[in-house]
Amino acid sequence: MLIDNHGRPINYLRLAVTDRCNLRCFYCMPHEGIDFLPKTHLLSFEEMLRLIEILAEMGISKVRITGGEPFVRKELMAFLWKISEIEGIQKINLTTNGVLTAPYIPELKQLGISSINLSLDSLDRKRFFEMTRRDELPNVLKTFDTILENDIPLKINSVMMAGKNEEDIFSLVDLAKKHPICVRFIEEMPFNGEGIKPEYFMSYTKIIETIKSKYPSLYKIADEANSTSYNYKIQDFAGSIGVIAAFSRTFCGTCNRLRITPTGDFKTCLYDDGKMNLRDMLRAGLSNEDLKEKLQESILLRAKDGFEAEKARKTSVSESMTTIGG
Ligand code: SAM
Ligand code: SF4
Repeated sequence: MLIDNHGRPINYLRLAVTDRCNLRCFYCMPHEGIDFLPKTHLLSFEEMLRLIEILAEMGISKVRITGGEPFVRKELMAFLWKISEIEGIQKINLTTNGVLTAPYIPELKQLGISSINLSLDSLDRKRFFEMTRRDELPNVLKTFDTILENDIPLKINSVMMAGKNEEDIFSLVDLAKKHPICVRFIEEMPFNGEGIKPEYFMSYTKIIETIKSKYPSLYKIADEANSTSYNYKIQDFAGSIGVIAAFSRTFCGTCNRLRITPTGDFKTCLYDDGKMNLRDMLRAGLSNEDLKEKLQESILLRAKDGFEAEKARKTSVSESMTTIGG
């Protein structure tokens, strides 16, 4: 088992397979988008598979595929099938914006996907457009329905922003009334290509207060081990509600995650600025044993929490989440 310098077991890899995306979410990218990198700068699927194999041998058992939008990368499904064959990988999860995802859901079910996180910030078509700068709500809702039809565990991710989609909170909460899903509200972080925008920030306590204003019976339930969300139920609801204090960083004490960005930067904390570049090491011909040693060294230098990681950065947090993988 992999254990970091603070005694935290590590078994989870979040792998961003592309920096490209078909949405332009307000909290993730500037209006004009970001400069997407030339394809040669991105890890190839072969390189990613080699890294997953190495990490699986070191103790990683769960992989989340994220991005950018995973489904804008060609041949994603073939890549996921190959991950499913790697010894030691017990769970494959996916985070997607749902624009292109619906047709792939039956195959994801066949593959044995453990769960899908679907990003959805509004059920109102106009506000969805304001949030994502694209008119894609119908496609996302099609993905939502298809995931449920295929009986795949589903979590909704909604970034809550004051004065932006605050008023959507109740319609999103109500998705958990009928459906056995977890609707999770995320605090906005400054990973947006521009930097901190305090005017839109809605804290996790404010999110909980707002939900309670309509549903005073909201009650706390047990959180899964290593959960990043505080989880709640409302009486007679089929599903549950989660709140992720992503900016307040309340969950670092049990963090079990590592990240690899689309360009191969290895991150041991979302808030760090990358420990080393694995793509360059692979391309320089390092052996698996050498790579393991480097990975181990980084894991033993892990920041104790997101605040420490942020303090140690060379530049302030402002890169787009699409270049990291959320
Ligand atoms: N494109 C996919 C999607 O949107 O689901 C996967 C990548 S996206 C970067 C992963 C998650 O990060 C999404 O749920 C998104 O809402 C969240 N996210 C992006 N930028 C964020 C920010 N600045 N603060 C908080 N969450 C953010
Ligand atoms: Fe794309 Fe996901 Fe970022 Fe939205 S949050 S712009 S869908 S990568």
